[in-house]
Amino acid sequence: MTTQTGQGPRYTDSDYFFRKLASGIPGVLFTYWLSADSESHRYLFVGDQVNSILGLDPDVLRKNADPMFSAVHPEDIDGVGASIEESAMVSKPWRYQARMRVSAGHYEWFEAHATPERQADGSTVWYGQLHNIQHYKDLERTLREGEAESAFQADFQKLIARLSTEFINLGFGTIDQCISELLKTIGGFFEVDRAYLYDLSPDYRTMDNTHEWCAADVPSLIDSQRNVLTVDFEWWQDKIDEMVGGNRVVFVEELEQIPGGPERTMLEKQGICSMFCVPVRVRGLVTGFFGVDSIRKRAWREDQADLLIIVSGLLSGALERSRLEGELLNQSVRDPLTTLHNRRYLMPRLNEMLSRSSRYGEHFTLAMFDLDRFKHINDSIGHLGGDFCLREFANILLEQTRDADVVARFGGEEFVVAFSDVSQAGVRRTVSRIIRAVRDHDFIFEERILPLTVSAGVASIGELSGIPASPDPLISLADNRLYRAKQAGRDCLVDASGVSRI
Ligand code: GH3
Ligand code: MG
Ligand code: MG
Repeated sequence: MTTQTGQGPRYTDSDYFFRKLASGIPGVLFTYWLSADSESHRYLFVGDQVNSILGLDPDVLRKNADPMFSAVHPEDIDGVGASIEESAMVSKPWRYQARMRVSAGHYEWFEAHATPERQADGSTVWYGQLHNIQHYKDLERTLREGEAESAFQADFQKLIARLSTEFINLGFGTIDQCISELLKTIGGFFEVDRAYLYDLSPDYRTMDNTHEWCAADVPSLIDSQRNVLTVDFEWWQDKIDEMVGGNRVVFVEELEQIPGGPERTMLEKQGICSMFCVPVRVRGLVTGFFGVDSIRKRAWREDQADLLIIVSGLLSGALERSRLEGELLNQSVRDPLTTLHNRRYLMPRLNEMLSRSSRYGEHFTLAMFDLDRFKHINDSIGHLGGDFCLREFANILLEQTRDADVVARFGGEEFVVAFSDVSQAGVRRTVSRIIRAVRDHDFIFEERILPLTVSAGVASIGELSGIPASPDPLISLADNRLYRAKQAGRDCLVDASGVSRI
């Protein structure tokens, strides 16, 4: 071994070489001694790196190993102790991973492996190495997160596929239920506390919470969020502008991001920590927003934000379809000339009123109107002028009746108003008002004032002996009285008490 000549240390100086070797490796080499009764322990040798890595003095550790164990994370220390005991007992190599406080003050992951050697006095000495494995742990975590993320993405894709199918197969009139189901599914999937849909008024000055899902024990807000004026909420108004104008999402990860003001106070009162809102568009226009709230602080991953935007797209599509279907349905029950309800709408409503009348004994009265000498109007100013008069008359009917009354164009220049729960005198007052309003109204078409009057026949369910199975006898009675009104000289009404000239 002693072949070295010239300067420098000799190979036989094993202590010197060992220290040199030990200082050259990235970890900490050690020889750890534990007494037979496990009461005392120290490092017979510990590499100087223990100082730079863990901030511990090797000379101190050579007397007592306690500071090394004090550097172990409190959650890991029991496991370290137990694994050393076990290694000593079975005389098997010791290998353990634990977090240790590094010289910078925070914890990092370390792994130690060492081979035990039982001594004659019953004590044990381990020869081994301690090294930092934090970067492996980081890598492992990134991989795990990556896996979790792709599993999440795959689950989400399945979810969206299912929800899309549900929306495509959406039965007419089931949109509300479907949206509620969607909010529930999405709320659960993203583990939020509340998921909701708001409608924005066309001028974006009011917002209306139309659908809501809340996790268990999370209070509902929907009732306090109907037709909320946004004018007092300056910050929120800005956010709405961003959603509307820039198609931007509103993302509040922590409430502290919101400047102090009424919206922050409100959210604080509601216990909301973070929120995420995405605009919902129908035919290219923002008509509302979909959002989720969390009452816990939570970190949002970028991909989750993208997923919520996909959900909002799904909602937009469903709302667009529902609106279209609503319009189609509306068209089928409305008269395009006057926009009043048509006969198709009227007849089932009359049946409904009949059964209410028989169940609750409510008054139910029908007034039938027919414009006087309308052929003459058409002949004198043309069909377009006639159409104009029909529209004007429809407006008079709407102005003079309540929302609860059913107003419909029965056909041609004949109209029906059905009154529920109004006395005979009350109906007569309203019908008289209509007749007078038509007489007094200036129907001006192409600068010509057209003299127009209307006649009415009124019939009440109480006048019939027993409630009929269909509204036909009531219509027929009103029609007969209308005919009598025409014979009585027009511009008047006929009801149970005969002809009334107004
Ligand atoms: P009366 O006072 O007896 O009711 O006389 P009238 O001229 O109103 O008689 P009638 O009910 O027989 O005539 C109704 C006219 O209303 C005939 C038809 O040309 C016209 N009319 C029906 N529907 C429309 C419509 O949609 N537009 C226009 N401009 N005229 C219509
Ligand atoms: Mg007629
Ligand atoms: Mg007529």
